[in-house]
Amino acid sequence: MPSERDNIRSLHAYVPGEQPTAAQTAAGAVIKLNTNENAYPPAPAVMDAVRGVSAEALRLYPSANAAPFRSAAADLHAVSPQQVIATNGGDELLRLLVTVYCQPSGQGAAGGLGMTDPSYTLYAVLAGIHDTPVTWVTRGDDAQGGFPLPADYAQQLNAAGCRLAFLVNPHAPSGTLENTDTLRTLAQGFEGVLVIDEAYADFGPEGESPGMQLIREGQDNVVVLRSLSKGYALAGLRFGYGVASTTVIAALDKARDSYNLDALAQAAATAALGDQDYARGRWAQTRAQRTRLSDALRERGFQIPDSHTNFVLARVPQGGPAAADYYQSLKAKGILIRYFDTPRLADRLRITVGTAEQNDALLAAIDGAAEGARC
Ligand SMILES: *Cc1c(COP(=O)(O)O)cnc(C)c1O
Repeated sequence: MPSERDNIRSLHAYVPGEQPTAAQTAAGAVIKLNTNENAYPPAPAVMDAVRGVSAEALRLYPSANAAPFRSAAADLHAVSPQQVIATNGGDELLRLLVTVYCQPSGQGAAGGLGMTDPSYTLYAVLAGIHDTPVTWVTRGDDAQGGFPLPADYAQQLNAAGCRLAFLVNPHAPSGTLENTDTLRTLAQGFEGVLVIDEAYADFGPEGESPGMQLIREGQDNVVVLRSLSKGYALAGLRFGYGVASTTVIAALDKARDSYNLDALAQAAATAALGDQDYARGRWAQTRAQRTRLSDALRERGFQIPDSHTNFVLARVPQGGPAAADYYQSLKAKGILIRYFDTPRLADRLRITVGTAEQNDALLAAIDGAAEGARC
């Protein structure tokens, strides 16, 4: 039997956040603030749409290009349906982009896939699966605990010969937001395809996002990623989409699975986009809770860059428990948050914004952990 390819053998696979068992979740035993799921349920219209799918619709293959969803997304962002691709989570779009734009090693790959450090840890794993090199561009450090984007990001990517680069905006894991002017300069300066990962854009300032703005201006080397997992409370559905020029979308369409989205998912996702009033109300609630949580943690000495997402990155106060100790102490109380044991993140906790009650429980547990360390 042949062994797997060398790059797969040496690959460190993506490590997802912990998911409690169905029994633990049902018993309400766990407060889950570790993987940035929406704190609130999806719109009632979503469940109605799922229940409305007929046996006949399941007997037949679904729309191969998710046509009803594409037109709903096109209407929402004022682009054409040919500028939209629907994917099995935003993650499938990321994988498609690497497949379509990056050469494998030894085949003129040069800089391969460009990304900043830190950013979404899946990016480098996708490059590894495809066996294309990664070019890391280091972000700075600012007084708020944020990681500012280097002004010469485009030039560094060009110098390395990157054909594709990912930029998550609002940034994960810090939550900070780059504005449209910064992104326009970056897109115009970069010789490759720039992917603006807007998985969290729904929680940003109200109004259109920087990435969508650039697409409508006709910036043809930009791809904007959106996900229904966070903003629309549908992480379990696995649905995302990309918006770009018709040329880019046509290239991506060639490389995806023929029927990449099932009939139930298409019905649910289309219904979710259709109820913007519901979604906007939930985003407003999340923003209000984010402000409250950020203020409460800052009062306790945590340092937090201004977040435009549904999570905060909190650097623990000097002289108290280490971030890893907070993580363990909260876990023992049934509260899951995310701790990244990497050099730039080891003194921080990434905490998903929960409901008011969940955030209260989180703050009480943080106080308990700090208290316990003093005794
Ligand atoms: C959640 C997320 C995505 C996409 O997630 P899906 O669940 O696959 O839609 C993409 N990028 C970032 C940074 C994310 O956090």
